[in-house]
Amino acid sequence: MSAQSPKNSSYDIVIIGGGIMGASTACFLSQNKDFNGKVLVVERDPTYEFASTSHTNSCMRQQFSTALNVRISQFAADYVKNLGRHLCDSRVPQLAIQNFGYMYLADTEARADVLRANHKIQHSAGAATQLMTADEIAAAYPFYALDDILLGSINTVDEGFFDGQAVFDWQRRISREAGVEYISNEVVTLTKNAAGNRIESVTLASGETVACGQIVNATGPRAARTAAMAGIALPVEPRKRFTWVFAAATPLDRPLPLTIDPSGVHVREVSGGTYMAGAHTEEDPAVAYDDFTMDHSLWEDHVWPTIATRIPQFEAIKVITEWAGHYAYNTLDQNAVTGPHPEVGNFLFLNGFSGHGLQQSPAMGRGTAEWLTYGAYRSLDLSAFHYERILANEPILERAVI
Ligand SMILES: Cc1cc2nc3c(=O)[nH]c(=O)nc-3n(C[C@H](O)[C@H](O)[C@H](O)COP(=O)(O)OP(=O)(O)OC[C@H]3O[C@@H](n4cnc5c(N)ncnc54)[C@H](O)[C@@H]3O)c2cc1C
Repeated sequence: MSAQSPKNSSYDIVIIGGGIMGASTACFLSQNKDFNGKVLVVERDPTYEFASTSHTNSCMRQQFSTALNVRISQFAADYVKNLGRHLCDSRVPQLAIQNFGYMYLADTEARADVLRANHKIQHSAGAATQLMTADEIAAAYPFYALDDILLGSINTVDEGFFDGQAVFDWQRRISREAGVEYISNEVVTLTKNAAGNRIESVTLASGETVACGQIVNATGPRAARTAAMAGIALPVEPRKRFTWVFAAATPLDRPLPLTIDPSGVHVREVSGGTYMAGAHTEEDPAVAYDDFTMDHSLWEDHVWPTIATRIPQFEAIKVITEWAGHYAYNTLDQNAVTGPHPEVGNFLFLNGFSGHGLQQSPAMGRGTAEWLTYGAYRSLDLSAFHYERILANEPILERAVI
């Protein structure tokens, strides 16, 4: 796709990356009556073929182990179910959450204790998680083999699949109509002022230079490369995650929760006798930005045997489609990095979402738009995710990472 030139030589906000995080931020900015600046979104591949947003499994859950992550997903549920109201637009269709729930299974006392501890936090944050004994799980979901299972944890309120693509499409449409400019181009250089404490301009692959008030790094798995353009180290790397969609010869007689097997393999309902499984290789190295090759042995040797052991009806299945995508994997704690750089204050992070960025995008876009407008958060305080914790090497302990 040929590069497009920006209409102006200067913007109040330049968002680098037009995936769900960039789109959400641009959309919240465009809707904020206190913000009347010019916004440019630079996207190197407007087909989004390799973006994490296009490879997502598009689920949300309330089952996190930190109250802040629970609250972020609660806002996601409200945002998705009331998208038209949030976007102030009657054309927006009504979306629903397919509430099959996430079923975490524990096969050791230590894992069961983690589920019990998470359950307390989730309840105090208002999530409807239930702990289930193996007998209770067997009664509610007779298709599981549960000989090794001590405890399960599930929540069927605002937990399951949602149409992330529709949210993404509408956010881009609404923000464009409100004047946000999206261009097909790549940011290749960030230039600082003489003091080195602000980004003055971005240079595009086409050679043009654009002056900027503030910039947002929303470049997904390429976030570390973008930060490096400003001389900033960011512990985010591309890690491969594989997805398989398959049909079962004999479909299950009731919806399959997004089941997180103790092995780490997960499998869920899609619709009408089709299911989706996800996993990664045990070694899990950082990969090249353009490496999306499948690992067929992972399916045959590990994923299929694991899900067929857990759900014996899945002995007879047929893969329909499969893909590899990249997590933007934060090696410190697999959690978000948001807010301004402590020294280069007009450089904002929106990075490191690992496997939960789609559901976090409404709260993250809203919070980033607030910071860009007011220099502070007005709704949910996201400062726990700021870069200072990276510098201090103080991870956020989130035990429910998939
Ligand atoms: C297999 C898989 C399953 C997942 N399942 C879930 C799930 O069920 N639920 C959930 O909440 N999350 C899930 N996620 C995570 C979620 O999809 C991501 O966290 C989210 O999409 C990240 O969005 P993003 O905008 O940060 O990144 P991206 O979607 O990758 O967008 C970044 C954009 O930046 C552009 N870009 C990069 N560098 C430049 C540059 N220099 N100049 C211009 N443009 C640039 C890229 O082209 C890209 O389009 C999953 C991810 C994967 C891979």
